[in-house]
Amino acid sequence: MRRLLLRIPPRLLSIPLIALFFVAPARATISYQLSLAHPEQHTFHVKMTIPDVKDSVAVQMPAWNALYEIRDFASHVRQVKAANESGPLPIEKLDKQTWRITGGGTIVISYDTFWDEPGPFATQLNPEHAFINPAMILMYVPDRRSEISNVSILDIPEGWHVATPIFLGIEFTPMTWRFKPSTYDGIADSPFEIGKFDRFELPELSPKISVVIHGKMEKRQDFETKLAQICKYELSLMGGAPYEKYLFIFHVGEGAGYGGMEHANGTAIAAPNENVLLSISAHEFFHLRNVKRIRPASIGPVDYTKEQYTKSLWFAEGVTSTYERYALVRTGIWPKNVFYAEIGRRIGELEARPANAWQSAEQSSLDTWFEKYPIYGNPDHSVSYYTKGSILGVLLDLWIREQANNAQSLDDMMRAMNEQFGKTGKPYRDREDLEAACSQTARISCKEFFDNYVSGSKPFPYDAYFAFAGLKIRRVVHTSPQIGTQTSFEISEDEGANEKQKRIRAGILTGTTEKAAAVAH
Ligand SMILES: [Zn+2]
Repeated sequence: MRRLLLRIPPRLLSIPLIALFFVAPARATISYQLSLAHPEQHTFHVKMTIPDVKDSVAVQMPAWNALYEIRDFASHVRQVKAANESGPLPIEKLDKQTWRITGGGTIVISYDTFWDEPGPFATQLNPEHAFINPAMILMYVPDRRSEISNVSILDIPEGWHVATPIFLGIEFTPMTWRFKPSTYDGIADSPFEIGKFDRFELPELSPKISVVIHGKMEKRQDFETKLAQICKYELSLMGGAPYEKYLFIFHVGEGAGYGGMEHANGTAIAAPNENVLLSISAHEFFHLRNVKRIRPASIGPVDYTKEQYTKSLWFAEGVTSTYERYALVRTGIWPKNVFYAEIGRRIGELEARPANAWQSAEQSSLDTWFEKYPIYGNPDHSVSYYTKGSILGVLLDLWIREQANNAQSLDDMMRAMNEQFGKTGKPYRDREDLEAACSQTARISCKEFFDNYVSGSKPFPYDAYFAFAGLKIRRVVHTSPQIGTQTSFEISEDEGANEKQKRIRAGILTGTTEKAAAVAH
């Protein structure tokens, strides 16, 4: 079924902000009103109402969210004002992201914030659309983040529609669009796409998965079919859906930005063309377990004011990339040769960086906050935890299958993590719980693997490990005056592989194990 949702009635247009300034919320709860008036000015007009203030209240703007990077969203904020029923109130700025308002009762804070950056990690308002990562434009009260708050959006241009993962149980009055009340962190995790977009639901998926596309897509039917295949595969792998409904927001076209951002009940993805959308989708959809629900204790609860250090991004991001490629080959969207070539390419990418000799997967995770400095991207300074982690995922899988005679796999480790942490909401302790889940799955200690390749930076044992699956790695050295010497890694199937090697190879490619076969051994 395809449908367009949420046509905005013209009577909602151009509600003067002043008329709403002192309208008390229906219940005594923090509420946000967001005006999109004059989108050509790229400025959101925000009004935050805070009830039950005793003598003073501090409000903060996050320094970061989503990307592990200090971006100081307060630098976009202008003209902060505050008032209560008695009139304007004094405001003191305490640091780069904190304001203190002196006064009591119900306090209304208003400010403008300018945003015109494309992409899933940013926020943009222009005559084409609005895309909002709420943590970039909404302030919070530090000790009231867990309070259930309301968001309303006003002055939506005529003909624009609204899509957001928290758009359940919408409450509509002539003056406001009010979204499902949520905590600040819940609101921060629900991006909004507001504009003229195409919206449809993926076939044969329950609970519903909706797709919103802003931009042009040439092969939409084909894309829709394949995206549904990926979602079905990943849901079956992890034992069903952990959401009531899920939303994909796609921005496609030149200038749309690039990348994908995971959220608990949706994702926002952008790319200049549609070719890469499926692999980004496979990655982001897997995040709905790995990182959104199977979550390291080191990054929760979020501290929006400063860096939050975790050693687990190699697993949260890198192993999610392993599954992005597994999903593509296991659904048949990629032939196996494309899968082998992709792994070979990633190994080449990692091995070309001198920093691989000393920067471990855990260190790369901790140093993610350096990524905004150009020097850190230098091959002598860093490796990517995406690349190193995605290869570690394959090596772990090969090792577990070898130890367990292909009766257990990385899939079982993921499912064990999901049972223990994803479903219970308990966060995992970085290496400690990952190593325990690995050892429990492989039925042998994974300590040495973690010492050598996760916490340590020993060279990866490609030949020995790929041989577990009857795969050979050929190193091809290229030399030219322009690029110097480069080594590429070509993975191929060993014709002489034995039965066990063939079974492990088939297991990697199809996601199967042989629990029955293991019992016989
Ligand atoms: Zn990711």
